Amino acid sequence: MIAERIAENLYILDTGMFGLDRYDGLYILKAPRVALIETGLSHTVERALEALDELGIRREDVAYLMPTHVHLDHAGGTGHLAEACPNAKVVVHEQGAPHVIDPARLLESVQRAVGPLFPFYGTLQPTPAERVLPVRGGEVFDLGDGYAIEVIAAPGHAPHHVCFFERKERALFTGDAAGIYRPGGGGLLPTTPPPAFHLEQALETLARLKALRPRLLLYTHWGAQTDIELLDRYAHLLQDWVGEIERAKKTLQDDQAVTEYFVQKKTPLLEGHYPEPLLRGEIEMNVQGILLYLKKVRGIT
Ligand SMILES: [Zn+2]
Repeated sequence: MIAERIAENLYILDTGMFGLDRYDGLYILKAPRVALIETGLSHTVERALEALDELGIRREDVAYLMPTHVHLDHAGGTGHLAEACPNAKVVVHEQGAPHVIDPARLLESVQRAVGPLFPFYGTLQPTPAERVLPVRGGEVFDLGDGYAIEVIAAPGHAPHHVCFFERKERALFTGDAAGIYRPGGGGLLPTTPPPAFHLEQALETLARLKALRPRLLLYTHWGAQTDIELLDRYAHLLQDWVGEIERAKKTLQDDQAVTEYFVQKKTPLLEGHYPEPLLRGEIEMNVQGILLYLKKVRGIT
């Protein structure tokens, strides 16, 4: 079976993004009303449909497609999956909803943010507006059999980011709000892309996520963890990461020089987790997200 079982009725599918194992995933909750949390990449849709077939899930029974935000490694499969699953509604933050309906501007912005890595991100097909349910946090979707998913506003990584909290399992789908946690000893990694990473919002979100007292943290990148202290550890990691870049900015001034400094240094935080040439792109993206935050929020230019 291509999807892996995580708990009763709960599965994760590896999208194989970047050609990496266990880097990007989507979750399938096989309740009476089936929910997919994240939709993967546009080029992994066939694999997602195959996983549904293997799990004995009829496409008509998929009730909700729930991307945590509209970055393409989380929402890229939305349009194709909405087409394949005729009854599915797309649950997405109200600021992300217009991009799901008309992705043109989003695709331009992704290309700017990820540069040479763009081909890895695939595309996003439009979803008809009547299939989209915009949310902002606080909404609850009843899936039947005791399963219910609450929408948790989770700005920081992006202003339009939400997390999903499944109440029966106390399972928190973290999206990118709690960072990247790759199994196999990799540990926590930052995910701080442009154009709208915001440190204080990210920290406030992490505190609220912890207050939910989840039993399972379900990382999109990648898989289930039970230690909720990981939320605190990510808060510290973000503060250190921003501090490190702020110091480099004070010394080197020029943004390009700061980015190049972290690329040359192969910041230990990211080295070893991404093969070349992905490593350069990942470092550039994560550093540039912080530089933009320092400029826009703290006025450091
Ligand atoms: Zn992501």
